[in-house]
Amino acid sequence: MIFHSILWASKTASRHPFRDNIDSMIHEVIPVGPLQCNCSVIGDETTHEAMVIDPGDDIENVLQILSQHNLKVKHIIVTHAHIDHVGGAMRLKRLTGAPVLLNQNDQALLKMLDTQAAWLGMESPGQVTIDQELKDGDKLQAGNISATVIHTPGHTEGSVCLYVEAQQKLIAGDTLFMGSIGRTDLPGGSYEKIMDSLHGRVLALPDETEVTPGHGPITYIGVERESNPFLAK
Ligand SMILES: [Zn+2]
Repeated sequence: MIFHSILWASKTASRHPFRDNIDSMIHEVIPVGPLQCNCSVIGDETTHEAMVIDPGDDIENVLQILSQHNLKVKHIIVTHAHIDHVGGAMRLKRLTGAPVLLNQNDQALLKMLDTQAAWLGMESPGQVTIDQELKDGDKLQAGNISATVIHTPGHTEGSVCLYVEAQQKLIAGDTLFMGSIGRTDLPGGSYEKIMDSLHGRVLALPDETEVTPGHGPITYIGVERESNPFLAK
């Protein structure tokens, strides 16, 4: 099947497999921390402005990628307030001066980081404070890159996806995975809401959209629409 053969090959390809004429954008995915959260670094090759999404841990690896591409961080975006996605945000903020952005509906979870750390037997990262609220439809800019916030509650109340339309890329947080969806049995989770978010918002995107989930391999909307057992009609 064409989607699957492209899927594996594209993991390391810098160009979009469906279109040759998309301007190149730096997109590095760094699995961080014990739960291997996919931290994305997105950067404009011309202006060297960047966004970091979900700096859960291993900030030295994130900094290494930033310096390798000579990138300056404009926004630190957190898709949701689970510790594996937000744990390194304050450290990255201290080191780069960039603001931390999160949806307001995850503030309660953000205040529970000590509890979350205890569940996982991890050290608490301490208090995380938000500089700017992420709302549905917000456009975030880094150089010529524009990313749109899509509020996708379900895994948590404040879960968001980030859509870079010009690049046909979606950073999905823990809402959609290859062959799976985000769990909804943790505090703030709702199976009904994640289904509404997936069918109403995420699957509304074109099949060609490349999806970087919060954990695990990259996939495509078309692949998940066709083969994800949780999305079967
Ligand atoms: Zn999560």
